[in-house]
Amino acid sequence: MKSRIQRSMVLIISITLVLFYAILAVILYNRNMNILESEVQQEAKYIQKAIDIAGTRYLEEMASVDWSARVTCITPDGEVLYDSRRNGEDLENHSQRAEVREALASGEGEDVRMSDTVGREMYYYALLLDDGSVLRVAREMDGLVRTALNVLPVMGGLAVLMVVFALFLARWQTKRLIKPINELDLEHPLDNSVYPELTPLLEAMDRQNKEKEAVSNMRKEFSANVSHELKTPLTSISGYAEIMMNGLVRPADIPLFSERIYKEARRLITLVEDIIKLSKLDEESVELEKEEVNLYELTREIVSRLSPQASQKNIRMEVTGEPVLCKGIRQILDEMVYNICENAIKYNNDNGRVTVWVGDTLNGPKISVTDTGIGIPKEHQERIFERFYRVDKSHSKERGGTGLGLSIVKHGAILHGAKVNVESEPGKGTRMEILFPQN
Ligand code: ADP
Repeated sequence: MKSRIQRSMVLIISITLVLFYAILAVILYNRNMNILESEVQQEAKYIQKAIDIAGTRYLEEMASVDWSARVTCITPDGEVLYDSRRNGEDLENHSQRAEVREALASGEGEDVRMSDTVGREMYYYALLLDDGSVLRVAREMDGLVRTALNVLPVMGGLAVLMVVFALFLARWQTKRLIKPINELDLEHPLDNSVYPELTPLLEAMDRQNKEKEAVSNMRKEFSANVSHELKTPLTSISGYAEIMMNGLVRPADIPLFSERIYKEARRLITLVEDIIKLSKLDEESVELEKEEVNLYELTREIVSRLSPQASQKNIRMEVTGEPVLCKGIRQILDEMVYNICENAIKYNNDNGRVTVWVGDTLNGPKISVTDTGIGIPKEHQERIFERFYRVDKSHSKERGGTGLGLSIVKHGAILHGAKVNVESEPGKGTRMEILFPQN
């Protein structure tokens, strides 16, 4: 950044200097030109007056004077009568010179051109004398290039000075600009009051920090919950086994204790399985291929798998609707529908009902599971998708719940771009819907 600022500063100064140099050369050239013109014209008028008084003889008498200007006297037909630098007879006819023609026509004339005689750029000024001949005074002048070259040494020196100064200034300025950026407190981006231009960047950093913190808190909470959830059944298993090991259980009670150990072990297995499923979904890069899945057939198959659980509570299950295809990961879709249908049984009353509808809607394929169970109070409805969140912990555990089922549903839905809706009234029942996007 430092060298970039320095480079751009030197570039700006250089461009400015070149422009300034060009403009200065043009201004100087014009100014010199104006001075030269008025001097030459003045000189011509003096000589004209002198000739008017003393005749062309005046010029010959002045021959000994060192003229800085070139003075020429030309007859009306262009013959050179006198020239202060050359012998007039050696010179060619001047009737076609622009300034001479102009003077013959209108009394005075001027021109700027390269002189064949002198070999330099010259300003010519011609005046018509009373006797009809033309007096011409000319002086060498600096062209634009020569003027520019004349100021070059001064400009060069100035340029070196300014570039050195710019480099020094840029170094000092960049140091001053960068210092507050280097001192930014990135842990608390919004506490910095540096440049307003940095506010969007600092706000984005703050958002990122908060997101990172939320993820890290969630991970910590999840790990704490997992350890707790694993410890509970393990403690029970270890307790029951210890009692049996110490011979404190009567032989008649052994089947009861074994059943308790078995149940806790099953719970532990289910929990570990759910955690594995969830962490796989969390990795986002689920590598399973998406395929066309018939949601209606899948749901019917899941409901028949759950029928032993339903008949234990004498719950009537019914699947209606129509075959509908959805592009998705079969295994994950299976887990999503299974968890929702299982909950509709788990949290249902004895002799209750579970109605499942599968079909296509204007917005895409939909699965709707309605139960006549205990329902979910309004204030819990959003939170039930959080990991390990249960409305009634003991109720859930009694039914073998891990508190992870709906988290799996939520993650599966995100993976398929689907939405999950809950409608529930305590004491009346619950309707859970998964709405998939149009294929
Ligand atoms: P669990 O393993 O406890 O069933 P879930 O994540 O599947 O965990 O559900 C979270 C909580 O949401 C459950 O503990 C329960 O309190 C509530 N819940 C889920 N589905 C229903 C339902 N159909 N009826 C009543 N409560 C439900």
